[in-house]
Amino acid sequence: MSTMRLLFATTLAAMASGLPARVPPAVEALASKLRWYGQDSVTFPAGGKLVAVDPFKLPAGLGKADLVLVTHRHDDHYSPADIERIAAPEAVKLAPFDAPGFRRVAVGERVDLGFCVVEAVPAYNLVKTKFHPKSNGWVGYVIEADGVRVYVTGDTERVPEMKRVRADLMLLPLGQTYTMGSVAEAVEAVKDVKPALAIPIHWGMYEGTRADAEAFAKALTGSGVEARLKEIDP
Ligand SMILES: [Zn+2]
Repeated sequence: MSTMRLLFATTLAAMASGLPARVPPAVEALASKLRWYGQDSVTFPAGGKLVAVDPFKLPAGLGKADLVLVTHRHDDHYSPADIERIAAPEAVKLAPFDAPGFRRVAVGERVDLGFCVVEAVPAYNLVKTKFHPKSNGWVGYVIEADGVRVYVTGDTERVPEMKRVRADLMLLPLGQTYTMGSVAEAVEAVKDVKPALAIPIHWGMYEGTRADAEAFAKALTGSGVEARLKEIDP
């Protein structure tokens, strides 16, 4: 093969496989400190503080969170015992429903806490509407701090509003029973948002399997979004 033809073939191969995803250092730094405890239960740093989303089945001995975000009222997302365990005495607590000690947020609301800015975005089912009806006003959150926007989608299908969400790191369910209709739908939701990094959560406990997570990662290969699988922290 001539050098020219070899170069052409190599270029074609590179185009077919897409560009390698490049995760900015600030996003990598955050991802390395992200902990996942199953379902939507994650903690990560923001502006020098700790954020906990949907604390659930938390192990003992964790640090205290300065911000607790609850996406909706199902038992695997709103667990008062786990909130009690992780919330610092002065923690800000946000939820899209009335709960003791919580400030209620509405879809579209933006809350500036100084160390980070939180936006409540819609999370609902389009098909399996008995689980998370849009009329409940339940939410996902975009948390912006240290130049990084983290989008925790909450329990949702691929809703049209996702196309307007900007995020560097997206945490989403793989579902099939209560959330996304399929792994392919989760992949399309990621393509709507175009984060640098996507980490599937809300699998491996009640719905969604490791095989689903692996299929999700494979489907995003060459998309420009890096998909990374995490293990549930014991
Ligand atoms: Zn739910």
